[in-house]
Amino acid sequence: MQIKAILVGAMLASTAHPAWARDMLVSDQAQYRAAVKKAQPGDAIILADGEWRDFQIVFTGTGTAAKPITLTAQSKGKVLVTGQSNLRIGGQHLVVSGLVFKNGASPTGEVISFRRDSKTLASDTRVTEVVIDGFSKADRRAEDIWVALYGTGNRVDHSHFEGKTNSGVTLAVIRRAGDPLDNRHRIDHNYFGPRPPLGSNGGETIRIGTSEESLSASNTIVERNIFDRTSGEVEIVSVKSGGNILRENLVLEAQGAFVLRHGNGNLVERNIFLGKGVADTGGVRVINRDQTVRGNYFEGLAGTSFKSALSVMNGVPNSVINRYHQVANARIENNSVIDSARITLAAGADAERSAAPVDSKFERNLIVGAKGQDPFRAEGEIAGIAFAGNVEAKVEKPLLGVGVEQRDVILERAANGLLYPTDSALAAVGAPRDLKPVTREEVGASWYRGDPPEAAFGTGVTRPLTDGASLAQALAGAKAGDTLALAAGTYEVSAPLILRHRLTIAGVKDAKPVLRVASALADIAGGGGLRLENLAVDASSVSGEAALITVGSGAAPNYSIALDGVSVRGPGKGRVDGIVMAPGTFADDVKITNSDFAEMGVVVAATGEQEPKGWYPIERLTIADSNFARVAMVADLLRKGTDESTFGPWFAMTGSRVAGSGRDGASLRISGAQHTEIAQNNFAKSDGILVIHSVGAPETRIASNAFAATPAPRIEELAWKGPPRGQVTGNVVEARP
Ligand code: CA
Repeated sequence: MQIKAILVGAMLASTAHPAWARDMLVSDQAQYRAAVKKAQPGDAIILADGEWRDFQIVFTGTGTAAKPITLTAQSKGKVLVTGQSNLRIGGQHLVVSGLVFKNGASPTGEVISFRRDSKTLASDTRVTEVVIDGFSKADRRAEDIWVALYGTGNRVDHSHFEGKTNSGVTLAVIRRAGDPLDNRHRIDHNYFGPRPPLGSNGGETIRIGTSEESLSASNTIVERNIFDRTSGEVEIVSVKSGGNILRENLVLEAQGAFVLRHGNGNLVERNIFLGKGVADTGGVRVINRDQTVRGNYFEGLAGTSFKSALSVMNGVPNSVINRYHQVANARIENNSVIDSARITLAAGADAERSAAPVDSKFERNLIVGAKGQDPFRAEGEIAGIAFAGNVEAKVEKPLLGVGVEQRDVILERAANGLLYPTDSALAAVGAPRDLKPVTREEVGASWYRGDPPEAAFGTGVTRPLTDGASLAQALAGAKAGDTLALAAGTYEVSAPLILRHRLTIAGVKDAKPVLRVASALADIAGGGGLRLENLAVDASSVSGEAALITVGSGAAPNYSIALDGVSVRGPGKGRVDGIVMAPGTFADDVKITNSDFAEMGVVVAATGEQEPKGWYPIERLTIADSNFARVAMVADLLRKGTDESTFGPWFAMTGSRVAGSGRDGASLRISGAQHTEIAQNNFAKSDGILVIHSVGAPETRIASNAFAATPAPRIEELAWKGPPRGQVTGNVVEARP
């Protein structure tokens, strides 16, 4: 950059007080460092517009409440901090604004840190109108925190955080022994944008503290933020300290819940959760003492279990600090739970979590279950919760009698967009009328909107190809969303096609072109994934250990693969797998429909994550109406460990036929999935189905399948003490002759 430093203040100083605030425009890292050294209260250090690459910013100083020292952009939104960059702030009364972190990742464990080092924390410091967008480490297992709040009296407001795909909390209040613990931070008017499921613990959007210091009060306020599809894991906000307030936030289609995980005396009030029926959308989960949940509005939440609209957990007697303290003196009042699937009481009750809630009150709440069903479930003793003045829209066999009046409830949408009963007799029941949902305009940086997501399959240009054309060449010119449309004929794939965008390769109608593969078909090296349609893959001459579609390490999570109307012939049973992904990558979706596979290895080999930490490679694996003949396995999906923080994996296989297949006693092995549906399939002369449960409350249904000369399906439990869980019904098993 050619812009020279301009010391505006120097000109002003000649006519005014010598300590007049200066604006110091800097255009390179050396000028920046010099400016920080001489900055005085009231001064502003201004980064020149443009890209600042590989810039590890250290911003220190001592301002005053009236004259903070500011670090800002020449033009808000036009200063891009890219590459291996981050920001450490140490001192008092500092303000940072206007910066955009994009196209890179922090080389350390934090992107913005409210401390210079372990001795120099920030206090009374503000980060406002700052953007961190997609600034994720490429390997999702590599952990960092985007905003780490240390010290006291700090504020993060009107900022925009979106697209974190690697492990670690988006914004964390760090409370270490020896540091000030009465933090009094304020986190307000921020836009927390889409965060896809991480496929492990560590995908929280906000965390306040950790269990070690959780019995002291942080007194942090989280208010009037938007959480838009912040679906990293089961905890959207994880409160692990006391005295915090979560107030008037708007939570949109976000999987997970606000969780009062550790610490006492927190207040959750006037928040609005709108799930729109999205799976695993939840509300508030209560654990510990003296928690108040009042005046909240929950609508369209489909979550159950720990992701219920409201859940009150069972504790562990004499719990160690990092397990579950008993719920005592909870106040759950004047909430509206509308069109939502579940309210779970004594949630998680088991041999360890045997301490039921005590001295708690559940009063004046309005409950309208989804689909006319009673949302209440009790997983253990609930005599310690007193119910009074609640109203529930009539259901056939209500779980709760005393304190929950059954009556007809007619709802009407008010001017604030929320549903309230028309009957004025119910005015004192449910969420208050004066809730005012925070708007998109009120939050985030007004000058910033994220890029649209990568174009979906089939939304771009269709590029026709004829027999003999080079697919590799065609790919080089294609953009995200484009479709390569292949006429009939044979296309030689001599080296794997490298995919860097989301692309479709499809045979034109009735053409069924053949891709003849020498070593592998495709490698997903970045971007959004691959869809194959209406074509054949001839891999019969591939030799050695190989896979047809590989996902390379560092391929930007999250990607999708879809195969529809594809037939694949391999070189022989057990040889050449279908889809194999490197550890550290994550598919939102792998979907196989109307396809045929013959003479090959494992069609979906998803066992790369071998650490027992709950990592898994695919959120949803779906197989429907497909044929598998003489393959090693249809799918081998693995999630190890006993962590309870994830939604998936989900697995479904329906309407398919498997013949002459299997290896080591299984033709399909699903281990550690949270949801498994295997229905209306035919297995013949094959090894059986093995479903392995490791954690939580897995929902498994194996129904209406036929097994000819194939063993009956097996379910194994690794942790659960008791008979194997799962619904196994309507299967026809014909023993091997
Ligand atoms: Ca967690």
